[in-house]
Amino acid sequence: MKGACFLQVFNLIVLASSFAFAYDPSPLQEFCVAITDTNNGVFLNGKLCKDPKLATANDFFFSGLNIPKNTSNSVGSVVTPVNVDQIPGLNTLGISLVRIDYAPNGGLNAPHIHPRATEILLVLEGVLYVGFVTSSPNNRLIAKTLYPGDVFVFPIGLIHFQQNVGKTNAVAFAGLSSQNPGVIAIANAVFGSNPLIKADVLTRAFQLSNKIVKYQQSRF
Ligand code: MN
Repeated sequence: MKGACFLQVFNLIVLASSFAFAYDPSPLQEFCVAITDTNNGVFLNGKLCKDPKLATANDFFFSGLNIPKNTSNSVGSVVTPVNVDQIPGLNTLGISLVRIDYAPNGGLNAPHIHPRATEILLVLEGVLYVGFVTSSPNNRLIAKTLYPGDVFVFPIGLIHFQQNVGKTNAVAFAGLSSQNPGVIAIANAVFGSNPLIKADVLTRAFQLSNKIVKYQQSRF
């Protein structure tokens, strides 16, 4: 009886961990500092690992995330990523960070998707209107206005956005559940692909005139 119960618990743990492995895998070692030099490296999970004996504190370090970025661009926001490309020690660890600065009166982190990560966002300064949209056929908008100290979650793979609806600068930090979350900016991907998607495809998809599609394509 005791043995059978143990087996059930064991099966449950195996089942649970197979779900947990659905995205970035758990690390196979304490750390795997990424290197670009292919000599003396061990190929693992997309990046080469540095010999652990040669790892230093700087492999796990990034600085400057306290500095506000200039948000005077077409959308009025800047995302500063801190992922495996900035901190090579993040390799295989399944986590990363961004700082997002928003211009006053509408600065927008435009609708986008992270194909490999769920995002958890903390507002430090300002007022943000944020949201995400569930998949078809419901396409339900789940949205909220956030203030300093508020936290919001954007589930993996869903379209989401944040907009500064206050009169002052806004700043947020977000953790992402991948060393390399990836980003698909919807407008850029649709209207600014290289080469461009045939205008007739977008005309029908978005129910727009050919002229507006061509204009949009010229903007991105
Ligand atoms: Mn995001």
